[in-house]
Amino acid sequence: AYVVAEPCVDVLDKACVDECPVDCIYEGARMAFIQPEECVDCGACVQVCPVEAIYYEDDLPQEWSAFTRYNADFFAGV
Ligand code: SF4
Repeated sequence: AYVVAEPCVDVLDKACVDECPVDCIYEGARMAFIQPEECVDCGACVQVCPVEAIYYEDDLPQEWSAFTRYNADFFAGV
């Protein structure tokens, strides 16, 4: 699945939400989150993000690796 990282924080542009074909991008308080079980790995959200915040999970830059966990926590209701 794809993961939203640090650049989205306090930006929350939401262009990705309109672009996602399966509506799996959800709005958190300060950033967007991608529901990993619903994401079909199409990559459509990546190009429309104005701040380059979205990465395929295996390509997530090291300094933002914690965002995979933040994403899981969001959907776990933590
Ligand atoms: Fe939605 Fe495709 Fe982005 Fe996954 S990769 S969040 S399915 S637009």
